[in-house]
Amino acid sequence: MQENPLRNLPAVSRVLEHALLEDLRDQHSPEYMTEAVRTVLNEVRAELLSGVSADTERESIVQRVLQLLDEQSQLQLRCVINATGIILHTNLGRSVLHESAALAAYHAARGYLNLELDLETGLRSSRQNPIRDGIQRITGAESGTVVNNCAAATVIVLRALALGKEVIVSRGQLIEIGGSFRIPEIMSVSGVSLREVGTTNITRIADYERAIGPNTGLLMRIHPSNYRIRGFTETPTIDELVALGKKHNIPVVDDVGSGAVFDFAPIGLPGEPLVSEGIHAGADLVMFSGDKLLGGPQAGIIAGKLEFIQRIERDPLMRAFRLDKMTLAALEATLNLYRDRAQVQAEIPTLKMLNMTIEELTTRCVRIAEPLRKLPEFRFVEVEPESAYVGGGSLPDLALPTVVVALQARDLSEELFAKRLRTGTPAVMARIQHGKVLLDLRTVLPHQEAELLTAILLAIPPRISDV
Ligand SMILES: *Cc1c(COP(=O)(O)O)cnc(C)c1O
Repeated sequence: MQENPLRNLPAVSRVLEHALLEDLRDQHSPEYMTEAVRTVLNEVRAELLSGVSADTERESIVQRVLQLLDEQSQLQLRCVINATGIILHTNLGRSVLHESAALAAYHAARGYLNLELDLETGLRSSRQNPIRDGIQRITGAESGTVVNNCAAATVIVLRALALGKEVIVSRGQLIEIGGSFRIPEIMSVSGVSLREVGTTNITRIADYERAIGPNTGLLMRIHPSNYRIRGFTETPTIDELVALGKKHNIPVVDDVGSGAVFDFAPIGLPGEPLVSEGIHAGADLVMFSGDKLLGGPQAGIIAGKLEFIQRIERDPLMRAFRLDKMTLAALEATLNLYRDRAQVQAEIPTLKMLNMTIEELTTRCVRIAEPLRKLPEFRFVEVEPESAYVGGGSLPDLALPTVVVALQARDLSEELFAKRLRTGTPAVMARIQHGKVLLDLRTVLPHQEAELLTAILLAIPPRISDV
């Protein structure tokens, strides 16, 4: 009769006594270690019972425990080196914060702060107060407030100004901003009814005026952030909408989306409306994202007339939509940088990346490409001109000229090479194009360059025969 293999399994205590596990005693509690050993022993037992051959030696059990402990300590959210060149990559977290904003969030996280407290009087205050100044400064508005993102801003603005009423929007502006953010659906969850006017390409101010009736609550302009209509097109200016709103005593809201504080046209990035444009024209409210062209944390900034801002803050949804202390701290620090425009252009990562010159990009690409050229593991290493999109639903038809390192490994397909980069430590996201892996240094932070080179080398299996 054959021996029962389960009998060979070591006892939990025997595994725990192993020197390699003893060494981990100062990192984990005894309960946690015992649980890990039990988990592995149960796995091995199940494998044996189902007829899978499994190693019951104490050494191999210990190795499996170590591997399990290592896996359990790995977080699912990790740092990724963004080598796609897409600056506002939504899947990679959109804007990278300025160091002062990141530090503000860090300090807010690891201690207490005067989030809703006036230190002068010792009385309760609003968590919105610290960011109002900054919003006023960059938009010229009377007041401002902030919620979780621009989608939440849209909902709360619609409710505050037009609950149960009609909102007039041009057919050319009924956009979808990725995922499930579609203007008609947002309107219905916000409790307003959408009144579409005009056509996809042509909407005139007269179309809005004809649609105005006793139940009109709001005139809204939505910036078609992620697409452009070209050719024979017409759409009213914000000034025309504001004039019409005044004539009929109906509020006007401008959803500018990307939140460009400066005119990007001089650096070759045309077409983004400025956050101050709507306010100067007399719009009642303007809203935009904090983590697109502003270069701050995820937030939905609402600027405009004090009366409407107060109405928004009284909405019970404000409690559900409000920002947490870390994001507020990062946003205040970001807005504070906007006191000095030159500093913003030179230092806020999103704007710095947008402003990066071809010369600078070339130098950085060469620094990565040179050491790789000498290696037999690569079939192809070149620094080449390319173009990239800004992403995040901003500047959709702008192919930004850029420079990339184009690579082909000798023993890996481009898909496998990209996958090994993605699953390495640190993870690297690259682009694949025409059989090559492309690395765009525009979105790689300067301090990540050495890490990027290491990650590339680790992703390539060494050619044993050439060593
Ligand atoms: C991006 C965008 C939104 C959504 O903003 P989030 O901050 O991503 O929620 C809404 N409206 C416009 C016009 C946008 O461009």
